[in-house]
Amino acid sequence: MKYVLVTGGVVSGLGKGVTASSIGVLLKNCGLRVTSIKIDPYLNIDAGTMSPFEHGEVFVLDDGGEVDLDLGNYERFLDITLTRDNNLTTGKVYQSVLDRERRGDYLGKTVQVVPHITDAIQDWIQRVAHIPVDGRDGVPDVCVIELGGTVGDIESSPFVEALRQFHFKVGPNNMCIVHVSLVPIIGVVGEQKTKPTQHSVAVLRSLGLHPDLLACRCSEPLDDSVRGKLALFCQVPPENVLTMHDVSNIWRVPLLMQSQDAHKTILRVLGLSGHADKLDMHGWKTQIADRWDSLKDPVKIAMIGKYTALSDAYLSVIKALQHACMAAGMKLQLDWVEAQYLEPEAKETDAAKYETSWQQVRAADGVLVPGGFGNRGVEGKILAAQYAREHKVPYLGICLGMQVAVIEFARNVLGVKDADSTEFNPGTPNPAVVFMPEISTKHMGGTMRLGGRRTVLQSISCLTAKLYQKEQYIDERHRHRYEVNPEMVPQLEAAGLMFVGKDETGERMEVVELQENPSGHPFYAAAQFHPEFKSRPGRASPLFLGFILASGKRLNSYLTSRATPQPSPHSTPVKPSPATSLGLEGLNLSAIGGSGSSSSGAAAGSGASQALFKGSS
Ligand code: GLN
Repeated sequence: MKYVLVTGGVVSGLGKGVTASSIGVLLKNCGLRVTSIKIDPYLNIDAGTMSPFEHGEVFVLDDGGEVDLDLGNYERFLDITLTRDNNLTTGKVYQSVLDRERRGDYLGKTVQVVPHITDAIQDWIQRVAHIPVDGRDGVPDVCVIELGGTVGDIESSPFVEALRQFHFKVGPNNMCIVHVSLVPIIGVVGEQKTKPTQHSVAVLRSLGLHPDLLACRCSEPLDDSVRGKLALFCQVPPENVLTMHDVSNIWRVPLLMQSQDAHKTILRVLGLSGHADKLDMHGWKTQIADRWDSLKDPVKIAMIGKYTALSDAYLSVIKALQHACMAAGMKLQLDWVEAQYLEPEAKETDAAKYETSWQQVRAADGVLVPGGFGNRGVEGKILAAQYAREHKVPYLGICLGMQVAVIEFARNVLGVKDADSTEFNPGTPNPAVVFMPEISTKHMGGTMRLGGRRTVLQSISCLTAKLYQKEQYIDERHRHRYEVNPEMVPQLEAAGLMFVGKDETGERMEVVELQENPSGHPFYAAAQFHPEFKSRPGRASPLFLGFILASGKRLNSYLTSRATPQPSPHSTPVKPSPATSLGLEGLNLSAIGGSGSSSSGAAAGSGASQALFKGSS
């Protein structure tokens, strides 16, 4: 097993996750099997209890693991399926050591950070690195380890010490260390400053880790003189000092590293130089990085959320929209709408925001209500769903977005005016959405329905079946406690809201669509699961693709142009080949007018270039 360790210095939020994922992409496209481990030095056992306000979205894995959003970057960049153990936290390490202590496994010894915690970290890394994540048997060749936080933090010190020992144990030819640092530009002449990087490398070296490469984040390309200075002071050859300047989209980062032969350096350190010549980034460049920049036809999507000031809170939804736009050949224009400003009370308290928010909804080609928890803004989301249904604007609801769609339909079509969810109104006499835990009806804690679950399709002619190109079932990831009240389903269906996907028991409603006739709605679909977590560049989530195509008025031509049904890549692991490793086999670009050609100059769909690099936009 070979390891690439990615550390960070100076400040957090530099794009360490994207850098680490990009290294993985380069190694994968050299023909190596790559896995990854993200280390988060906080005490939480996992990200499940953390607020999206503070830490961005909680990413959900197939096995139900609630993990840091960087694991989403790895899954998307490398097209792999990780496990909950691929996210190591201080909480998990301490829990495992304390469990062993209680069992008496330490045989009377004093249990200490060194060696017990540091040994546990090394054992964990070694064990998890060997888990296959690409759907094939056998162990991966390389494990990319990203150490969260910045070196020198109190929190990360046991991990740094463990990794120092691990480096010594596996030997220098089996581990390559990449340090991501900041080169700020200051002053009127725009001088690139090396001192912060010098200091953070000095800290790293004092802890016993010597970087093989420096990945220097800077808004501009690094000057040669600056590169030379960093090489001299940090004891890294100048060609190993990478300029990681802002680029037009995050998919360009692996290409930026390739252009500086980063893969060759990493492979040389790992004793794998023979693989360097195999690198093939053509598909990645033309079908993903260039394609994104070449998109021109705009599609305006209103995202009705709660944490709209923080796009990290909806990172996977944004990525899924971007993948769908790439596949549909459309340029994403994302408008953030704060749900609570759509509510009638806002007219009194914040008239200007009420007006602009509704203007945004009215101007949108498609309305998306993503997942969420808690009361705030729920009535606004219900109003947005009503608007989209009545005005025949494409609507995609995810998790809470499905629940509000059902409540809205019950209130305004069935006439059950006080229909509600017991999450927001526990005493409601007409619950359209109810608490329905998978295991126990008594327990509140640990009852979230999490991870991959099967949805059985109820009809081969529903839109969902057509988009997934599946006739029987689909597998998607979940994270919820509340569900559509099965008792209300017959009434809702009689009025035209069809539950086209259910779980295997038929009790849990998974996907809802408006009956095509007589509604005449171009696209009204909502799912209890989160399709965004399995979306990939080059293999857009079918529901997102349908939504974007409908919003761009291209859905019908896409559906009619689809030839014979193909197996969905979402449920069967595909044997990697140069094309499938990028997941490009599902693209039917010519049928929907996407050019796929490359051109430069077009701005990215959302966010500034730096934000795009950070991977947090
Ligand atoms: N709050 C809702 C539930 O628990 C929806 C959850 C979500 O959108 N992820 O069921």
